[in-house]
This record gives sequence, C-alpha cells and structure tokens, in this order.
Amino acid sequence: MASIKRKQIAAANWKMNLTLDQGKALVGDLLSFGTEPGEQQQVILAVPFPYLLAVNELLASKERYTVSAQNIYYQKSGAYTGEVSAEMIRSIGVGYTIIGHSERREYFSENNEMLAAKVDLSLEYDLVPIFCCGEPLSIRESGNQEEYVSNQLKESLFHLPEEKMANFIIAYEPIWAIGTGKTASSEQAQEMHAWIRKVLAEKYGEETAQTVSILYGGSVKGSNAKELFSQPDVDGGLVGGASLNAADFDTIIRSLK
Ligand code: PEP
Repeated sequence: MASIKRKQIAAANWKMNLTLDQGKALVGDLLSFGTEPGEQQQVILAVPFPYLLAVNELLASKERYTVSAQNIYYQKSGAYTGEVSAEMIRSIGVGYTIIGHSERREYFSENNEMLAAKVDLSLEYDLVPIFCCGEPLSIRESGNQEEYVSNQLKESLFHLPEEKMANFIIAYEPIWAIGTGKTASSEQAQEMHAWIRKVLAEKYGEETAQTVSILYGGSVKGSNAKELFSQPDVDGGLVGGASLNAADFDTIIRSLK
C-alpha cells in the first residue's frame, strides 16, 4: 500500500479563558512570528463561541490557520436556551468543532451516546469533528486504557460509514495528563495512538485508518512537542494551557512533522 500522508495539526483549545481583546492580541502575537505551516499542516484555534467571528476574520488571509468551536449541542435546534447548534456554527463560516472533550464529559455529563449524536450533527452540517477520547488515571493504573478508549470510539463513532471516517480528527487525551503538567511519555502516546489506529483499521480498513489524524493532548508544551510529534502515529497536538502563550504555541506549530 502506498503511504498516505495525513494532516499534521496543532490545535489550540483556549477553553473559557481570555477576553475578546486578549484573544485578538494573542492571535496577533501568534501571527507576528510569521510561521507558515506546510501543505500537510494545519493550525486550528478552538476559541469561545463569542470570539469565533472575530478570530475567523483575523485569520482570513491565512490559509492554514483556522478557527474551531469548542462544542456543539447534541440536538439539532429548538428550545434549548443557551445552547449552540452545529448549524449555527456552520452558518457563521466555521468548519470545525471539538466534540467530547474530557471536561465536557466530566462536568457536563456528556456520555458516549450524546457524543455520537454530536458527531452526526457535525457531519450533517459539514463541520470536521475533533473527537476527544482518553482514560482517567484509575483506568490507566488498572492497565485497561486500551479497552476503555476503544469503547469510547465504538460507542460514539462506529455507527459511521467508512467514507465519513476519512480525514477525521481524533484527539487522544489521557485525563491524567490534562492541565496537570504531567505529560504522557512519547512512548506511551505512540502506544495508544497505534492502538487507536489499529481499532480504526479493524473497523474501517487500513487505508482509511491511515487518513485519520490522531492528535495527542495533555500538557503539550513548546519543550516537549517535537519529541511527542516525532512519533509515527502522533499527528500533532490538542493544546490547552500552552496555547495561551503565543511563543510557546508557535514553537508547537513549528514542531509538527
Ligand atoms: C486540553 O485542554 O485539551 C489540554 C490538553 O489541556 P493542557 O494542554 O492544558 O493539558
């Protein structure tokens, strides 16, 4: 089989941080480094809903920098005060959304079934989902992380037909490494990414599995990104804390394969 080149991605997750002015300044600082990602590379900034339009405009001339929502609701539309639909995100010209971040799973009780509905809605409205999976510390300590993560994939993604999986984005984020300063070693990351690709290959075939970008998330910083991204199945990172620092995030972008 000919080798398939999949996208290498540096994705920032600002979470619930920054004012609009601070966010615009951060984007300005980031762009001032002048880093131009290569043809197979992409930078994605997942910013709070109220900033999507403004940040999208700041990135308008940058083909390989784009914005993403951090979440969408699992219902299509209707009486869900305060929620934001996939269709709304599409209607403002945004093409990506994070789905199933562990903070949503934990603090907002999002389960695999709800996330399957979100994945369907994102695809229906032509949003590329950045689907997050990953095990808590107790599961890692019991050695059951592979089974735990394959269940997340099976219950939220495996109803999809093969053509929907091509060029999908998955973020493997071990919960014990998110915001803790405790990064998975590059060997631990590679092991889980290879496992995820194997699970995808069993369901969708090797060729499709090879097109899926699998990002690592969990305390990625400028100082460890190169080593993590050098692993063959690590196709970049989903970055929280370090994405709020322009210089650090620029180093992470430059660490992509
Ligand atoms: C995240 O929010 O997805 C994340 C990985 O956070 P951090 O980089 O701060 O660990």
